[in-house]
Amino acid sequence: MKRTLLLTPGPTQVPARLCEVLGRPIIHHRTPQFQAFLKEAVEGLKYVLKTQNDVYVLASSGTGAMEASVVSLLSSGDSALVVEGGKFGERWTELCKAYGVKATVIKVQWGKSVDPAEIKKALDADKSIKAVFVTHSETSTGTNSDIEGIGKVVKNCAAVLVVDAVSGLGVQDLQTDNWHVDVVCSAAHKGLMLPPGVAFISVSAKADALMAQSKLPKYYFDLRKYKKAWTQVDTPFTPAIGIVIALVESLKMIKETGIDNMLSHYARLAKATRAAALGLGLTLFADESAISNVLTAVKLPEGIDGDKVLKMMRDTHGISVAPGQDAIKGKVIRIAHMGVIDEYDILTGIACLEKVLKQLGHKFEMGAGVAAAQKVLNP
Ligand code: PMP
Repeated sequence: MKRTLLLTPGPTQVPARLCEVLGRPIIHHRTPQFQAFLKEAVEGLKYVLKTQNDVYVLASSGTGAMEASVVSLLSSGDSALVVEGGKFGERWTELCKAYGVKATVIKVQWGKSVDPAEIKKALDADKSIKAVFVTHSETSTGTNSDIEGIGKVVKNCAAVLVVDAVSGLGVQDLQTDNWHVDVVCSAAHKGLMLPPGVAFISVSAKADALMAQSKLPKYYFDLRKYKKAWTQVDTPFTPAIGIVIALVESLKMIKETGIDNMLSHYARLAKATRAAALGLGLTLFADESAISNVLTAVKLPEGIDGDKVLKMMRDTHGISVAPGQDAIKGKVIRIAHMGVIDEYDILTGIACLEKVLKQLGHKFEMGAGVAAAQKVLNP
């Protein structure tokens, strides 16, 4: 029987401890029993988000939280600033367009991250900007944004800072309060190791004030409804009950290790993965200065089709990595090191990549990737 190993940037592997909780019989959500779970989940999310802000739990994928932030903060004809350095930055622009928000877009070359000074320039040039939308870890390129630097700029303006941390939360550091992030959108099927179905969003007092004035049409994703329900420790609509209960357990697991120890663990796995790629004579897609610990986008040599590499790894060996998208389709593969992944999973993935690359004619010394990773993991 073939193994299944997800080295993908979401969904990620679900640990046995969480599968056990997910398999329990359902309970009703309007009960003190569920309220206790919801309360604990929100407390745990605050710990991972490093915030004292309000956190609302939605039944959706991560994009639902992104949409909730746009419709709940803004009004038709408002101006926003969007940083676009990959597919998920583009999603912010698409959401703004869908709701008639005027988006000024800072385009960043894929693989690089925005200079916070550019954001300052744009905010200085247009004082009517109400929100700045950025991506914490751009999953399509394996690139990290300088959220701390951006936060220092935005905190002095009227605009709120909204961060898509769907893939990065719990994997790459995000200090919501220390870095002055007003809204964080994330979801449970990435760093938090659960099946898709729960998204969540943190809202600062500054964002809450903007929310009170928002006039965009909305219903399910109206965060004011979530705020009101939370006064009764409730949600306005049926929550994803089973996943919320499992989220409590997932957050317990993270607390047992400690969030900062988790971040160091992923930094170590990311370093080993990068070393392995270089050891195989491959190159990294993201700029060194902005490289993410969430996933590694590896460039393939001319003549080797990344989509073929991915298919062979997945269909023959049961190991899933992610493909390149748009302009880099077929040119890169993306290896995630997030969720319940350990060093042996990474070594297994690298060993599989070596086998497939060899079969496709790439010239390198067999074992060079694994050896390079091992040197990082066991110096
Ligand atoms: N933002 C980022 C950075 C992501 O990685 C993803 C999912 N890959 C999303 C947003 C969208 O999340 P979802 O597919 O859960 O809606």
